Amino acid sequence: MALEDILSKPFSHIYIEEDARNDDTTKAILAHFPYAVQIPIRHYKDVFTPAGQNIVLQKKIPSLILAKKAGRLVYKGAPVCQDFGNEWFYYTSSIMNCCYDCEYCYLQGMYPSADIVIFTNITDIFTEVDELLKEHPVYLCISYDTDLLGLEGLTGYVKKWIEFVSPRPNLLVECRTKSAGSSILKKYIDEGLKIPENFIMAWTLSPDKISANYEHGTPSLSMRFNALKECTDLGISTRICFDPILLVQDWEKNYERLIDETFSKINPDKIRDVSCGAFRVSKGYLLKMRKRRPLSSVTRFPYMNENGTCSYGSKKDAEIIEYMTKLLLRYIDKDKIFIWK
Ligand code: SF4
Repeated sequence: MALEDILSKPFSHIYIEEDARNDDTTKAILAHFPYAVQIPIRHYKDVFTPAGQNIVLQKKIPSLILAKKAGRLVYKGAPVCQDFGNEWFYYTSSIMNCCYDCEYCYLQGMYPSADIVIFTNITDIFTEVDELLKEHPVYLCISYDTDLLGLEGLTGYVKKWIEFVSPRPNLLVECRTKSAGSSILKKYIDEGLKIPENFIMAWTLSPDKISANYEHGTPSLSMRFNALKECTDLGISTRICFDPILLVQDWEKNYERLIDETFSKINPDKIRDVSCGAFRVSKGYLLKMRKRRPLSSVTRFPYMNENGTCSYGSKKDAEIIEYMTKLLLRYIDKDKIFIWK
């Protein structure tokens, strides 16, 4: 293969932390990239955290970093995230950064790089979750800072999580995605894997117009519908997320069409629940997002800053939520609708 071909591909360069070098996960991932340039590093932060990186460029051709995560591995859920009524709400990141490129994504404000870091010591996360489970039930979101199902072909982490969740009835896990990767779940089931009720696959849906203009690299809406349908047909506990809602032109018509189309294709009785919430992001993240994407109409919008969270403002948010709830009630019982406000 010519050098220019290698360099123009995502993951043409793979940085490998000394401590992660001999992990089975590292070896399995490296086997996917026989032509990649492998670069040994002391610590992932040496590559990931330096200031001044060009995130927009890195998004097009990201490098891969394989590392071990140290310190705290499971965190309390953030106030801007939906807890679905669960008291013990946590999240964890076995991967940092995403294979997709949504203009509204807070990761652009949170991380100094768009390279993808895969932590190979997922079993250390499992150990920490088990420690929490000794104290109380746990609701855990595992796919906030990445798209775990979108990267499943590389890592197999969704399968590992399903196997971990199965014997732990006090653990409820949500895996959120925009991928079209239901076929890999079907393959697992065909091979004998049981996906328990307490493992939730959550699909984020946006109107076609938003998906095409702002969710770069994601599967189309119709592909996500197919995946969602297959997921419900397989009997997997399935959630739909209309979040974040963006105030594009004619947003009411766009979201009405989306919800009507969703439930013309997906049987609402097979859905565990639905969430919706208007766009919101911390002020600090928004400032960085604006620097990185100065021309995006999403980052440039004059949001209102209320106690450090930037959004359309509580009055407009209430209007959005009232409208969305009215649409959802045509198909879904009230107790299955969760609103972020
Ligand atoms: S799919 Fe989610 S995590 Fe990935 S870029 Fe889009 S908003 Fe961010």
